[in-house]
Amino acid sequence: MSQPPADLVGLSREELEALLESLGEPRFRGRQVFQWVQARRARSPEAMTSLSKSLRGLLSERVRVDRLELARMQRATDGTRKYLFQLGDGEDIESVLIPDEDRLTACISTQVGCPLACRFCLTGLMGLHRNLAAGEIVGQVLALQDALEPAERISNIVLMGMGEPLLNFPNVEKALGILCDELGASFSPRRITLSTAGHVPGIQKLAASDLAVNLAVSLSATTDAVRDQIMPINRRWPIAELLSTCREFPLPNRRRLSFEYVMLDQVNDLREDAQRLVRLLKGIRCKINLIPFNATPDLPDRPSPRPRVEAFQKILHDAGRTATIRESRGWDISAACGMLRVEKDKA
Ligand code: SAH
Repeated sequence: MSQPPADLVGLSREELEALLESLGEPRFRGRQVFQWVQARRARSPEAMTSLSKSLRGLLSERVRVDRLELARMQRATDGTRKYLFQLGDGEDIESVLIPDEDRLTACISTQVGCPLACRFCLTGLMGLHRNLAAGEIVGQVLALQDALEPAERISNIVLMGMGEPLLNFPNVEKALGILCDELGASFSPRRITLSTAGHVPGIQKLAASDLAVNLAVSLSATTDAVRDQIMPINRRWPIAELLSTCREFPLPNRRRLSFEYVMLDQVNDLREDAQRLVRLLKGIRCKINLIPFNATPDLPDRPSPRPRVEAFQKILHDAGRTATIRESRGWDISAACGMLRVEKDKA
């Protein structure tokens, strides 16, 4: 019995070199195949026309180049596009494309669902179904790029879709390595941001890796009492421990950490919170992203009134901090922050 064909999308350059070597080919053929899969987005070995016919035939018997199956695309009035992909085992994930003046950001998922149960996030209501494989993480970027107009190009990637990336570290690390490989899609790590709810050992692993992507930390509270309530992960890694880990995170010159802060009415949006936030972040090179809460009937909180968000921002500004208010994108198609949730038709 022959082995079932292996998917090439989740394989690193080195793995493909080894694979081709095992087929009796020189290692550089592995690099060519990597380029075909990742840079030229070939959909099958037959399409790799710089390889000999016989090698293409051999590869076709043994490997596949999987594409995530696009089940649905929705376009918001602001141009944001949301894609629903069906995975091989029938699970679904969502990815979002966010066009801006000079960029096109792909927001991708790292898990099916999420185990962290933040009170303000719809994905959390799903619980964790499973981790995504490296090929499914890379596959979102390939499938999104395929779905674009020929002249459009993804400029930035944010790991801010479904899931907690640091709970799927090995696959995320591998996927980011593939996406940044200069023979592949060749993304600069500076244009990739990994967002975490505050998984301290994961942040330490990221710091020790050579990924050099940007780190965003979803803080969203200034006391442990409140953060314990809205982000249960805080009970395991409270604010002081999280921030001391952030202080140790190695930052290349002129780079900054980001802190995300979802603004919840009367929960974390008071003047005292802003003042405490200033004190907590003392000595950390960072910018703060205030995120207006995207409310839905399934979530208990209400959004902070706009004047309160602006007053909060002003306190940060007056203390010399960079703080932006993230404009909500894709709200009308539930593509905005925290709104990704996939419900299976039970029919
Ligand atoms: N698990 C990671 C990645 C998800 S990113 C993390 O927590 O960072 C999703 C971002 O959207 C996080 O900053 C999160 O705090 C924010 N978010 C979640 N639900 C939201 C909601 N309903 N409205 C606005 N922002 C939300």
